[in-house]
Amino acid sequence: MDALAELTDALPGDLVLTDPAAVEKYRFDWSRDSSAGTPVAVVRAEDAGHVQAAVRWAARHRVPVVPRGAGSGLSGGSSAVDGGIVISMERMRAIEVDTDCQVAVVEPGALNAEVKAAVAEHGLWYPPDPSSFEICSIGGNVATNAGGLCCVKYGVTTDYVLGMDVVLADGTLITLGGKRIKDVAGLSLLKLFVGSEGTLGIVTRAVLRLVPAQQRRCTLVASFPTVDTAARAVVSMRRTLRPSMLELMDQASINAVEDYRPMGLDRATGALLIAQSDAPGSARTEEVSVMQAACEAAGASEVFVTDDPDESEMFVEARRVAFPAIEARGSLLLEDVGAPVPILPRLLEAIGAVAASYDVEIPVVAHAGDGNTHPIIVFDPADPEAEQRSRAAFAEVMTAAIRLGGTITGEHGVGRAKKVALPDQLGPDVMALTRRIKDALDPDGILNPGAVL
Ligand SMILES: Cc1cc2nc3c(=O)[nH]c(=O)nc-3n(C[C@H](O)[C@H](O)[C@H](O)COP(=O)(O)OP(=O)(O)OC[C@H]3O[C@@H](n4cnc5c(N)ncnc54)[C@H](O)[C@@H]3O)c2cc1C
Repeated sequence: MDALAELTDALPGDLVLTDPAAVEKYRFDWSRDSSAGTPVAVVRAEDAGHVQAAVRWAARHRVPVVPRGAGSGLSGGSSAVDGGIVISMERMRAIEVDTDCQVAVVEPGALNAEVKAAVAEHGLWYPPDPSSFEICSIGGNVATNAGGLCCVKYGVTTDYVLGMDVVLADGTLITLGGKRIKDVAGLSLLKLFVGSEGTLGIVTRAVLRLVPAQQRRCTLVASFPTVDTAARAVVSMRRTLRPSMLELMDQASINAVEDYRPMGLDRATGALLIAQSDAPGSARTEEVSVMQAACEAAGASEVFVTDDPDESEMFVEARRVAFPAIEARGSLLLEDVGAPVPILPRLLEAIGAVAASYDVEIPVVAHAGDGNTHPIIVFDPADPEAEQRSRAAFAEVMTAAIRLGGTITGEHGVGRAKKVALPDQLGPDVMALTRRIKDALDPDGILNPGAVL
């Protein structure tokens, strides 16, 4: 029996796809990474046992395995590998809410939005909110340690992961953590798997911490003549308070959104800050006054404050559609560089300098309150010279971030797109330690080869 027949025999029915047309849709993530290969099969697991069976088969035949959530990743982390298999979690979507423990026990294929909706029925909230929350899975969020818009106040995915089940590279299923809020027994292995981008194991269940539903929000929208003045307002605000959202859009991204979905944003504005406070009672008004004063002192040309949820949502939506809006202008190279908040103005200045020196268009949106920016390099795919310049600019932005004491990725992960710059950020000793951990957990290197390391 050939190896593939062994896999389809072990996982009968429609669990395994081998038809090239069906497999095609599992080759790329949202970044359309050009290095993506063609898998020999896609396993659409329905439970942890199916994942174990597929991984055991792959271990026996030394076949690469790419775990896949919803494929919304922006760094080529779930790009397929030639001759490998993809294990898709799209069918594992059960969500169980334990209101007494205030946790949700979730299968990895459940979308972030589905978890939010399920827990909201019980007056609870799962805070991590990537802009892609309607199209990304919890497994992908855990594997990338996803961030989002409210992370400036509420933290990122790892702050909400209390436990998980993971299938290791030899097919063993382990359970880490659980519903316990406090648990320091043993090494902190749970956190090792968060953000490991499918290179150490496959998450088949996550126990997520929940909090009471978010309070009413007040939204402030401030227009600035330049990105620099907006960034200075962010630094000033973050010295004294933690807004529940603090996002930045530059002029190019505002215009891309207006072209894509007209919302009445002022195209002449140099940069926009969208901030929210969800502080209780009168503290909300006080926080918004501090934010307003910081914006005015930094040179805001206009500050608008609203309590109206629909009006607020319109501005937040403008920020959320920025990626698809910019994508409509050409091919993209998506950056995710970050720096300590006080360095934000210098990071944005460095990004502007790269755009000028490489003569490329780089609109920027940012989770500014976290110091996490998304410079998005746009180029014409039909112009090879422009593509080459864009790729050089992409590398230079990461170099600039490292030079400023920042990071090449704040939330999207290293994947395949940024791995060339990882040694420059981590240095040889940390890279060597990382390789030792990878070798210890996956000695044959079958889990997501080519990603991260
Ligand atoms: C419009 C848009 C906006 C976005 N905004 C944000 C944002 O604000 N913040 C943010 O953090 N991200 C954002 N992203 C990026 C993306 O949505 C996140 O990285 C998300 O966490 C990926 O989830 P996914 O299910 O799509 O994972 P995939 O793309 O399928 O996979 C991502 C990585 O996780 C691994 N993986 C997936 N599932 C598992 C599993 N069960 N076990 C082990 N490894 C697994 C994959 O191998 C891969 O390395 C955005 C993307 C888009 C398209």
